[in-house]
Amino acid sequence: MDLSIDLHCHSNLSDGTLPPREVVARARQNGVDVLALTDHDSVDGIAEAQAAALLEGVVLIPGVEVSVTWMAQTIHVVGLRVDPHNVALRVGLAALQALRVERARAIGKKLEKAGVPGAYEATVAAAGIEAVTRTHFARYLLEHGYAKDLEGAFKRWLGKNGKAYVRGDWASLGDAVAMIRGAGGQAVVAHPARYKLSSRRLMDMLKEFKAAGGVAIEVACGSHSEDDRQRFAVIALQLQLLSSAGSDFHSPANTRVDLGRSLRLPPKCVPIWDSWGLESTALAPIAELELVPPAYVRGAL
Ligand code: AMP
Ligand code: MN
Ligand code: MN
Ligand code: MN
Repeated sequence: MDLSIDLHCHSNLSDGTLPPREVVARARQNGVDVLALTDHDSVDGIAEAQAAALLEGVVLIPGVEVSVTWMAQTIHVVGLRVDPHNVALRVGLAALQALRVERARAIGKKLEKAGVPGAYEATVAAAGIEAVTRTHFARYLLEHGYAKDLEGAFKRWLGKNGKAYVRGDWASLGDAVAMIRGAGGQAVVAHPARYKLSSRRLMDMLKEFKAAGGVAIEVACGSHSEDDRQRFAVIALQLQLLSSAGSDFHSPANTRVDLGRSLRLPPKCVPIWDSWGLESTALAPIAELELVPPAYVRGAL
């Protein structure tokens, strides 16, 4: 059976716009069989996604996208199959969320100085979470006429040369991988073509990632061109890394990359999910599954 597998997306527990249950429902509608929810520095949406996935007959892979600073550059490391209850992971993510709150306040101050008052408070209120991302600010700027589109909001305000740019000082590459592995997960470098690194630096980063225990890179993803895919398929083989695939879906308003799209891996890649035993996993909707109570329940019966 050919499964549709999407291992990177966001809910409104980070900078996606849909609640986790709607992300799962949309994935199902798009024909996705296996979905990883990978919110920025948060596993808070996993429980809801897991419940929805059981009802929809989707296999939900608990995930997270950890923010990393490597050589003054932001790198994103996706964790797949993490235990969302793992204490060290939760402590590590809480620290990153605290950094997000601090940075968001600093962005708010810079916006204030540049003539955009009240953005921090309004952005946090609209987000419904405290640890907001720049995407949340971008939406505020867009809605209030300070930018034409999200891209413009990053260019003029939030991006590296923007008036309200504040650098994030995130986890180290080693700490991020350790956090993911400690929670039983597999670490994956997200959208490797997006980083502004020379090819040499990029290879150094990937080697360091592998030495720290990272196992895969995203070869197919929403922000990779066909050329990027071919290039990173070769790099994955060279470095003996597994390949992952994910849409990086954020919102139905941005239909550039919908759930379940942009997922084709070049044939030479070794998919990260090959060792997951998915073919033997029951993908039938819950009504068709034989529900076996867990051992502790059986013991009490
Ligand atoms: P943060 O982690 O708070 O720095 O925010 C990063 C997020 O902003 C990314 O995950 C993307 O979803 C989004 N983002 C970054 N650059 C752009 C851009 N040029 N246009 C639209 N969204 C962007
Ligand atoms: Mn994002
Ligand atoms: Mn990312
Ligand atoms: Mn992402």
